Amino acid sequence: MVSNRLPFVFRRAPGGRWENQPGSGGLVSALLPVLRHRGGTWIGWPGAGETGADLADAVTAAGAESGFALAPVMLTAAEVRSFYQGFANEVIWPLFHDMQSLCNFDPAYWSSYKEVNRRFAEVVMANSGVHDFLWIHDYHLMNVAAELRNLGCRSKVAFFLHIPFPPPDVFLYLPWRQALLNALLQYELLGFQTSRDRRNFIQCARLLAGEEVAVHGKGQVVTLATGARTVRVGHFPISIDYNTFMRQAATAEVAQRAAELHRLLPRRKLILGIDRLDYTKGILHRLLAFKTALTRYPELHERISLIQVVVPSRVDIPQYHDLKTRIEQLVGEINGGIVRPGGWVPVWYVFGSLNRIDLLAYYRAADIALITPFKDGMNLVAKEYCASSIEEECVLILSEFAGAAAQLNRGALLVNPYDIEGVADTIQRAYTMSEAERRARMRRMRRSIREYDIFWWVDSFLRAAIARNLDAFPLPENYVAEALTDYVPI
Ligand code: UDP
Repeated sequence: MVSNRLPFVFRRAPGGRWENQPGSGGLVSALLPVLRHRGGTWIGWPGAGETGADLADAVTAAGAESGFALAPVMLTAAEVRSFYQGFANEVIWPLFHDMQSLCNFDPAYWSSYKEVNRRFAEVVMANSGVHDFLWIHDYHLMNVAAELRNLGCRSKVAFFLHIPFPPPDVFLYLPWRQALLNALLQYELLGFQTSRDRRNFIQCARLLAGEEVAVHGKGQVVTLATGARTVRVGHFPISIDYNTFMRQAATAEVAQRAAELHRLLPRRKLILGIDRLDYTKGILHRLLAFKTALTRYPELHERISLIQVVVPSRVDIPQYHDLKTRIEQLVGEINGGIVRPGGWVPVWYVFGSLNRIDLLAYYRAADIALITPFKDGMNLVAKEYCASSIEEECVLILSEFAGAAAQLNRGALLVNPYDIEGVADTIQRAYTMSEAERRARMRRMRRSIREYDIFWWVDSFLRAAIARNLDAFPLPENYVAEALTDYVPI
């Protein structure tokens, strides 16, 4: 396994010793058992801006304790700035989310990206043999297979992109489009979140590969042949550990916290937004839509509140800092504009990270989730909300540009996040929806998420990677083909 971050976060404790904590998130919890059972090595950056030998020792020791090997890729503070903050987060992140106007195409960033990807490839070579299967993750490391081939690696190398892949007219803005596309074609299996991302990639390959591109097969995994190269290209919607979310959401502690929230915000329906601080998440448009709903439907006054949780993220990048200021101004305007003597607060705003119990309590307390990213690889919050809605009475309003919309379109109320009045009307629709309809929709979504959970995701990716013959790659019997393959919002 190769990812930008190791599955443990390393921090220097006050006495000078290194401490680590397991990283959070479904990916880590799904892959740790696979590595423990089958053996393996996880290669990545320990997340500290230091490169000392004592950090390398701490990483090795943490691996020994957890039952598989960890190998660090050390990055200097300058590399973190140019490779991670620069190329990954000021070029690829905005471009792949269709926000090309926010890109900073600094040529120094690209040099650093190549250099750091080469370093990752060297660490992979030093820690693997020819029969090992290599699984590379995400947009920070797209060049790793190409660098591995340059170093003479002959192992099977697969890649999964956790963020969207843009359409050709956006990808073509990238000054290094040719090199990056060629690098992606060096993998044996390329996994995307949705069929839309996969289609975008195939169209880019057709434009840029320089040779005729033939696509064979249909279904979840197809084969793309160009010149001497054959690449399998599939879509594997990432998911969550459904059963754990459901179980934890049902605990007395979570129920008590959720009840506390209802006591603090009594006699009203609660709408919830939870997002990392990021311009792709559509937080400002969402607030405007909520404000518009209150203007258009005065009967919602005092009957509804929006809880907006913003989780700190990438605050070193100026655009993120500005976004925070603008969100806080808008929350102030909405709350200041509608003051009621009874103390009704339209928007309850939280800036900070939530622990697991509070996160689940917000999910359980919310009658409606309002998740409206402009573009999102998947959006796990949407799936976690459904898994935690154990009473099955809640409504999910979801952007049609979130990857999760492809799977949840038969249960969620889908919206265009740019359509402020449309989202406002959908809030009113969710508020007035009958219990029978709410239950039917939520059940449909929960069933799909339960079936296609994170363990299904790992399993289906690994099976596609190792199957010699694609016809021998069976799909689950009642596979919701139309939900996972053909949903196109327009
Ligand atoms: N999350 C978190 N801390 C919080 C709130 C949420 O770690 O305070 C988690 C949440 O449970 C989810 C993830 O962050 O698993 C967000 O994933 P998503 O796909 O929705 O968006 P991303 O942040 O990856 O763009």
